[in-house]
Amino acid sequence: MRIDLHTHSTASDGTDSPGALMEAADAAGLDVVAITDHDTTAGWEAASAGLPPGRTLVRGAELSGRWYGAEPTVGLHLLAYLFDPGHGPLTAELARVRRSREQRADKIVALLNTDGIDVTTAEIREYAAGGTVGRPHLAQALIRRGLVATVSEAFAPEWLGHRYRLPKADIDVFTAVRLVNEAGGVSVLAHPRASSRGHIVPDTLIAELAEAGMWGIEADHMDHPPADRAHVRALARDLGLQVTGSSDYHGVNKTVRLGASTTDPLVYQEMISTATGTVPLTG
Ligand code: AMP
Ligand code: FE
Ligand code: FE
Ligand code: ZN
Repeated sequence: MRIDLHTHSTASDGTDSPGALMEAADAAGLDVVAITDHDTTAGWEAASAGLPPGRTLVRGAELSGRWYGAEPTVGLHLLAYLFDPGHGPLTAELARVRRSREQRADKIVALLNTDGIDVTTAEIREYAAGGTVGRPHLAQALIRRGLVATVSEAFAPEWLGHRYRLPKADIDVFTAVRLVNEAGGVSVLAHPRASSRGHIVPDTLIAELAEAGMWGIEADHMDHPPADRAHVRALARDLGLQVTGSSDYHGVNKTVRLGASTTDPLVYQEMISTATGTVPLTG
């Protein structure tokens, strides 16, 4: 069984529609794929409808979290799986973050305009195509103007990485863990050692999150060097956390391929026997 538990569609900053994502996962030989768009479940229905025969879909999301216990505060991503999408307090938090993302994008557009770069908010909305707005959509506008060549170049400090970086609202990470659990889901800390994002998540915080009911942690991820993967595995063993591996596929917005990293079938079995919010779907 090949299992990839972290992918993005056009419901956030991926470039495959949810249906196309299911086709691509099938073509990549994945038996199980999770759809984990940023702060939304908007892709769930179309992904379900596009599920090829014999393939299984795990419905999830990647929550924008923040830890307020350090100065400066630390942003982090929490994968949530098989939660009830109708859980009011969780959906309210997701909606709040999405609204803030739209406001942030508008402010970044204004900053770019001040510097004579004529991107428009309408254009960014168009690239986001009704999904969660993210910096990769702003990157798209920079690429179209020939200001940068690739999405990752757009994340350099002189662009979205620093010069045109603005904060958005996030979910207190302990609240996020609690809400996912209340909604019957399980939570997994995404790419905790991805230092290219400017920081790594301290082990002491991971221990506190495990204590607070977080279920697992992502070890195998393209942004993790081998030594960090080993470190995460050892930490997970100490803390009783499950370990996942996944691609974090974003279509052409990133170079990683579906199934580049995968999750142990035993961990997947544990996930589906723990979660109660919703079930995996098989086409
Ligand atoms: P946002 O969620 O709007 O803050 O934007 C962060 C998203 O941008 C991440 O989920 C990635 O999809 C993408 N991203 C972040 N850093 C990079 C990078 N260095 N190169 C390419 N994409 C990136
Ligand atoms: Fe993303
Ligand atoms: Fe992430
Ligand atoms: Zn992701």
